[in-house]
Amino acid sequence: MDACPICDGVQTAFYARQDEYDFVACRSCGFVFLFPMPDDASLAAVYDDAAFGVGRYPKAKSRMRRATMRALRLWPHFVGKDAIDVGCGGGFVAEAMRRLGARSSGLDISPGSIAYARDAFSKVRFYEETFETFLARGESFDFIHSSEVIEHIGDVKSYMTFLAGIARPGAKLFLTTPDIAHPTVPDDVTDWDMFSPPRHVQFFSEATLTRLFNTFGFDIVKRFYKKDAPTLQVLARKRR
Ligand SMILES: [Zn+2]
Repeated sequence: MDACPICDGVQTAFYARQDEYDFVACRSCGFVFLFPMPDDASLAAVYDDAAFGVGRYPKAKSRMRRATMRALRLWPHFVGKDAIDVGCGGGFVAEAMRRLGARSSGLDISPGSIAYARDAFSKVRFYEETFETFLARGESFDFIHSSEVIEHIGDVKSYMTFLAGIARPGAKLFLTTPDIAHPTVPDDVTDWDMFSPPRHVQFFSEATLTRLFNTFGFDIVKRFYKKDAPTLQVLARKRR
């Protein structure tokens, strides 16, 4: 049995089955994750199969408006600074941060998304590569945005190592992910539209996300709570 990536606990209990996928919950910290976890190649294949939608961004105006609203909330943390959107998709948030005064970059593994982003937003630096390759560039940032990414990542420890590696001391990190502990999540979790393996391979609560962040040198400084939406949105700071 693999250890829990949050607390290294080795005891888990069956949590739920969706399609042919089994989720377990750590008996020690409650973290819910797919078991066995598919390897990176299998997870990447999921996105190849879904390629019909990748790199196409209909309703670009409303995407840009939403990205701008998001960026306005976070503006004090990136204005005049080096900012990156990790898992940037079509580049809307990276562009919104640039327009609001950041030196802005975007990173995504999807060639279609990055092609779109480069074409649409020529003043942002976009990178189409893996976390590992990007980390080796030695770039670092004052502000990191990463929305609805962590729940897709098979190896959550390497993702956190990556974020910690590109964050300068004192850098801010804004991260969002579905909140499995939210009161609006259905009693039968398999009725939850977010409960969609193998796209989403793990689910956080504020407790498990806090524990993970602390392990990798980030302290949560603010939680944005939405009463009617099962989303975890947190602002964290990298320790100095
Ligand atoms: Zn655990």
